[in-house]
Amino acid sequence: MIHNTRISKRVKEKHKKAIRNVIKGLSRKVEVYKQPRKLECPNCYYDKFTESSTGKSKWTAVEALTKQAEYEAGGGESLRYKWFKHGRCPVCRGQGFLTVKRKVWADCIVTWDPQAGRNSVTYTPAGTEGSTIVQLKTDPKNYDLFKNSDRIVVDGVECKLSKPPILRGLGTQSVLIITAFTTEKPSIDSGEIIKDYI
Ligand SMILES: [Zn+2]
Repeated sequence: MIHNTRISKRVKEKHKKAIRNVIKGLSRKVEVYKQPRKLECPNCYYDKFTESSTGKSKWTAVEALTKQAEYEAGGGESLRYKWFKHGRCPVCRGQGFLTVKRKVWADCIVTWDPQAGRNSVTYTPAGTEGSTIVQLKTDPKNYDLFKNSDRIVVDGVECKLSKPPILRGLGTQSVLIITAFTTEKPSIDSGEIIKDYI
């Protein structure tokens, strides 16, 4: 009996997981780029007046080596500490700060050209004529992520939000709707036109 209970529990969990996977299967991973964050260079002294590096290393050669090793041991992958005599800091290249790109993946149901075949007027933000609209449906928990995003990449195509995300529905039924437009023009089309003329 104990054995049977165990099995049924396992089957139930498997079933639950399967349903979750079906929902997940409908959605795709969308890359969301948060606004890049400026971080004061960990390797050199920052000059507030010139808003750039002072060209002076914060560390001795040994200190820099130790710090870099510690940083890498903690999972860091970039160059953060490197001793230099004087002049251009090798970490920030003399800027005095680092720009940290922050990318997050979000599960979304993707619909390209959502207005196609409908009678409604397509919303076209100024200056985006000729770009394709894409609609994303995602978990409401992603509201701030998308609202503060710099750009997003859908199916490998770079896009920008055309308006703030819209929350639709109530409670557990609610869904977040994101409307974005492509910022890169498809190069395949222009290539075909050129071919025609040749
Ligand atoms: Zn620096």
